[in-house]
Amino acid sequence: MEKCFMCGKMSTIYNEQGIPMCRAHQHHEAANLKCPTCGGDLDVLAGKYGKFLNCFRCGNISFYKLKQVGNIYFLKKG
Ligand SMILES: [Zn+2]
Ligand SMILES: [Zn+2]
Repeated sequence: MEKCFMCGKMSTIYNEQGIPMCRAHQHHEAANLKCPTCGGDLDVLAGKYGKFLNCFRCGNISFYKLKQVGNIYFLKKG
């Protein structure tokens, strides 16, 4: 089961970036989805155990990890 990237509640849907979100946060987007190591752009990929992020240079990174080490903040769309 995936968890909302923002609040950690159960997620059943994705925002426009493809990030798991709960219903309350489905219109929020991560404003600075950058690799915490090199600052490069991150792609959202779908794996066997849910979505994860990939940096072209540094490899895969989980949403959990990114939230721990990255300076992620969220913006509400629309
Ligand atoms: Zn949420
Ligand atoms: Zn990187």
